[in-house]
Amino acid sequence: MNTTINADPQELAKFSELAHRWWDPESEFRPLHMINPLRLDWIASLVPLAGKRVLDVGCGGGILADSMARRGADVLGIDLASKPLKVAQLHAMEAGTPSIAYREVAAEALAQESPAAFDVVTCMEMLEHVPDPSSIVRACATLAKPGGWVFFSTINRNPKSFLFAIVGAEHVLQMLPKGTHEYARFIRPSELGRWCRDAGLDASGTRGLEYNPLTRRYWMSNDTSVNYLAACRKTA
Ligand code: SAH
Repeated sequence: MNTTINADPQELAKFSELAHRWWDPESEFRPLHMINPLRLDWIASLVPLAGKRVLDVGCGGGILADSMARRGADVLGIDLASKPLKVAQLHAMEAGTPSIAYREVAAEALAQESPAAFDVVTCMEMLEHVPDPSSIVRACATLAKPGGWVFFSTINRNPKSFLFAIVGAEHVLQMLPKGTHEYARFIRPSELGRWCRDAGLDASGTRGLEYNPLTRRYWMSNDTSVNYLAACRKTA
């Protein structure tokens, strides 16, 4: 059993420091607010969420988790940063979100506690902040029921993603605080694909997310060269 925690304390501290602004759609979290309807609709188009047991790994302040609960899912959000989790809980209370719970627990620990417990597992914009992302992918696979769905999103690693996701987003447009992302931690779709296969997940589809800085709009496309999402199914 691996008991070392697969988390980078500096990464968790970064998200905790900003946590009070999580639900401000004009804050550092604007990109998450803007992409949320797109990813939510994509997930819901593949697996209707009403009545499903859903786990959101690395849920932060709960933007995706909350929206899935509002679509009728029974959602558990987990994270290892305590302040974002408190913000998520407070938001759910204030907004009266139904069927949502949050817990500070590592994905690997929950996988030992409740294997095959979830119809849907989501893990968005999180793998690129973790020392061993393949271990998170394995845990997500263990947590899904056979035939269940697992969704990831992260950032590709190539010269274009360096230019767009770091130089553009952090330095030129200043949409994100400097140091939000570290290039070496970006993940190529081929790498994510291999970790998924090794964990018993079948790739079911990939989508790209693009951004126009002039209109400040996002849209989904087939271009996975910067931000992308992957849908997988656990082999039954
Ligand atoms: N998934 C959310 C938040 C993304 S921000 C969304 O897309 O809306 C990244 C989140 O990952 C932060 O909340 C951070 O605390 C969390 N995180 C980073 N390392 C983690 C780890 N090892 N385990 C769990 N969560 C982690």
